[in-house]
Amino acid sequence: MAFKSGFISIIGRPNAGKSTLLNRITGEKISIVSPKPQTTRNVIRGVLNREDSQIIFIDTPGIHKGKGLLNEFMVKEAVSSLSDVDAVVLLVESEKPVSDDDRLVLEAVKGLKCPVILCLNKVDQVDKRQLLPLIDEYSKAYAFREIIPISALKGEGVELLLTTLTALMPEGPKYFPDDSVTDLPERFIVAEMVREKVFLYAREEVPYSVAVTVDKFTEKKDIISISATINVERESQKGIVIGKGGAMLKKIGSSARQEIEGLLGKKVFLELFVRVHKEWTKKPGALKDFGY
Ligand code: GDP
Ligand code: MG
Repeated sequence: MAFKSGFISIIGRPNAGKSTLLNRITGEKISIVSPKPQTTRNVIRGVLNREDSQIIFIDTPGIHKGKGLLNEFMVKEAVSSLSDVDAVVLLVESEKPVSDDDRLVLEAVKGLKCPVILCLNKVDQVDKRQLLPLIDEYSKAYAFREIIPISALKGEGVELLLTTLTALMPEGPKYFPDDSVTDLPERFIVAEMVREKVFLYAREEVPYSVAVTVDKFTEKKDIISISATINVERESQKGIVIGKGGAMLKKIGSSARQEIEGLLGKKVFLELFVRVHKEWTKKPGALKDFGY
């Protein structure tokens, strides 16, 4: 049988479980996890290697309603990652009704030439009978190639998803070596993870006002020591990110740390600071400094 390979974008609103799915896939089979070089700072990819196939998964930051230059940039990044892939996995939360953000994601897949697979994630949290009306509603909204209920967290349905995706891949080369983990831009991944947690926990416009910079990254034998700064636009946002008695910052830090440990496979000490960088999303120079 000929070797198959291809690229697949995982899209969905923030919190749908995209990173969990990528981690689940990478945790078992992946050989490299690294962001797309040069072009964008918002896309992380992982490689699934199997005997006769290789699939590169692209994890996007989440298509999300919002305003301003930076939001436009991010949605554009997520949507443009769709133009050049062999398939798209659209992840939604099966325990929630179709939301405005889900509709925005549905809009983004309209007109795509490649097959789109809908994954109803978090099925571990729902009564299976609840899935039928949801499947019905989604199939009316878009002609999905397949609709697969999964639990990215528990693993249910993930193997079926991978088999389905492999079958969709064209014949192609091995793009990456089987097991090399070279030149991981770890600082980048760290910044992304922290930023994602801000997305996860902070409300409203705050996540879109955040840029994360990594100030220190020291790797020792057993532990990686990291200092990072969460840059916000306004004093009020600084307060929100820090939270009452530092609670929010602690939450962001501890969940980011866990995810970074998972990705880097090492114990991590993560120290976070919050700094006000006035109206940076409106200043092209500052946007550039932060990698946008
Ligand atoms: P992303 O923003 O789409 O990357 O979402 P994450 O992967 O960060 O997941 C958001 C939250 O949903 C996290 O708290 C996950 O633990 C949780 N989650 C993801 N997948 C599942 C799942 O299959 N079942 C349950 N119960 N929780 C999940
Ligand atoms: Mg994510």
